[in-house]
Amino acid sequence: MSSASVSKIALWIDGREVEATGGRCGEVTDSATGEVVKLVPFGSVDDVNVAVASSLSSWTAWSLTPPLQRARVLMRARDLLDQRKEELAKIITLEHGKTLADAVGSVQRGIEVVEFATGIPHLLKGEHSDNVGGGIDSHTLKQSLGVCAGISPFNFPVMVPMWMVPVALACGNTFVLKPSEKDPSASMLIAKIFQEAGLPNGVLNIVHGDKETVDALLAHPDISAVSFVGSTPVARYVYEKATNSGKRVQALGGAKNHAVVLPDADIDGAADALIGAAYGSAGERCMAISAVVAVGTVGDSLVQRLQARAEKLLVGPGERDGVDMGPLISRDHLERVTNYISSGVSEGATLVLDGRNVDVPNGGDGFFLGPTLFDHVGLDMTIYRDEIFGPVLVVVRADTYDDAIEVVNQNPYGNGTALFTRSGAAARRFEHDIQVGMVGINVPIPVPMAFFSFGGWKSSLFGDLHVHGAEGVKFYTRTKVVTKRWPSSSEVVDLTMPTIK
Ligand code: NAD
Repeated sequence: MSSASVSKIALWIDGREVEATGGRCGEVTDSATGEVVKLVPFGSVDDVNVAVASSLSSWTAWSLTPPLQRARVLMRARDLLDQRKEELAKIITLEHGKTLADAVGSVQRGIEVVEFATGIPHLLKGEHSDNVGGGIDSHTLKQSLGVCAGISPFNFPVMVPMWMVPVALACGNTFVLKPSEKDPSASMLIAKIFQEAGLPNGVLNIVHGDKETVDALLAHPDISAVSFVGSTPVARYVYEKATNSGKRVQALGGAKNHAVVLPDADIDGAADALIGAAYGSAGERCMAISAVVAVGTVGDSLVQRLQARAEKLLVGPGERDGVDMGPLISRDHLERVTNYISSGVSEGATLVLDGRNVDVPNGGDGFFLGPTLFDHVGLDMTIYRDEIFGPVLVVVRADTYDDAIEVVNQNPYGNGTALFTRSGAAARRFEHDIQVGMVGINVPIPVPMAFFSFGGWKSSLFGDLHVHGAEGVKFYTRTKVVTKRWPSSSEVVDLTMPTIK
C-alpha cells in the first residue's frame, strides 16, 4: 500500500475526532509486512493548546463529580474494554507485531488497572483525628491536581496508557494522552470506549505526535503533572524539563533485567521461564529478562537448555496460529538490534544461537529477527551494557552468589529482576539486598498486579512515585490537612504559639 492511499488518524479532543493543524505526520507500519497502514498526525503547539484548554475547562465539573459516580463510569468502561478486548488486541498486533495471545494478555493487564481504579471512593478516604487539641479536630483531603498529561511508549499501546488514565481520572483529574506515534490507533478506540461509558467530553483528550508535541506538553503552564514511560534518555529529559516548569513528574525509563540462576534451582523450570521472559513479545518488554547470571556449575546445563528451547520457537506474523514471536516494531529497530548482534560477536562473546536471517515462510518484508543467545558475555561488552530491546538474551557467568548480586547491583538500571532457587534463605537475602524496584522469586517477569505499584529504581525511574496501586493514587492527588475548631465568642486574643500543654 502506498502512503498516499492510507487514511490518517485524527486527534481526539472534546469527545470527537479532530484534524490536526500544522501538517506534519508520520507513517504507521504493519510490522509483519513492512507496509504503511496509517498516517499519524504530529500535533502542533496549537493542537496541544486546544487539547489542554478542553481538559482544563472540563476539570472543575469532573473533580466535583462524586467519586462513586466517577467509579461507575470506570465500571462501564471496564465492561466495554472487556467486550472489545480482541478488537484492541488485533489493532496492537497489526501495528506492534506481538502475537494475538500476548496482545490480549496486555489488554487484560490494562483492564485490571481500571478495576483497581473503580475502588476510588475507598482509596480517596482521608484521615481524621478527633481532639488534636482542646476542642480541635484534624482531617485530610485528597484533591485532584488538574490537567495531567501522559506520554507512552510503543511496546504496550493499551496497557501503559491504562497505567495512567484510569487512576488519574478516578482521582478527579482530566487527562491529555500522547500515545506512541508508532502504534497510535488503539488509543483512539480507548477514548471512544470511555466516551461510550459516560465519560464527559474533554475529560480525556488525545494528541498524537513526536518530540515537538511532547515539548509543547512539558512547557504548558496549565498541565500540573506528567506521567512518562519510555527509554531512559527521554525519561531523564522529560523529568528535567517538566520539573523545571514546576510539574509533578513520574518518568519510567528503560531496563536491563537480570535473572540470577543458582545451582540448586529447578533448571528445566528456570529455562522454560526464561525463554518466555526473554523472547516473549520479541524481547520488546520493559520487564523482559535480557541478562541471565548463571552461578557456579549451572552455566553449561542452563545454556544447553535455553538453546534447545529457543531453537524451537516459531517466528512469524503475530496473528498467525502457533507463532511464538512476532516481528520487531520497525526496520530501524531491526537494524539496530542486528548491529548489536554483530558487535557481540566482534567483542568476543560466544554466539550460541543467531537470529539473523531467520526463515519466516511468507514473511514478506516484515521486521523479523529470530531468538538470539550469547554466552560468556563480559560486563564491559556493549550487548551487556545497553538495553537492546529485542530477542537477544545474554548469559553472564558468575562464580558465587555474592558475585551475582554484585553484577545486578552494579548495573545502572533497576527495573525488574528474578532469582531462581530452591533455597528460602538465598531468596530472602536476594529480596533484601538487590537494588531493583520489582523482584521475582522463581517468577521471571514480576510485573506487580494493579493493586500494587509498578516502578523501577535507579535509571529505570525518574521521580519518586510508581504507577498505579497506592502510589498511583498518591501521584494523582495532593493532600490538604484541615485543622478546625468552633470557638465560643467569649474567647480572648492570644498571640503565642499554639501548643498542647
Ligand atoms: P521512546 O523513549 O523512544 O518513546 C517514548 C515516548 O516518548 C513516545 O511517545 C515518543 O513519541 C516520545 N519521545 C521519543 N523521543 C522523544 C524526545 N526526544 N523528546 C520527547 N519525547 C520523545 O521509547 P519507545 O521506543 O517508544 O519504547 C521503548 C522504551 O520504553 C524501552 O526503553 C523500554 O524499556 C521503555 N519502557 C519502559 C517501561 C517501564 O515501565 N519502565 C515500560 C514500557 C517501556
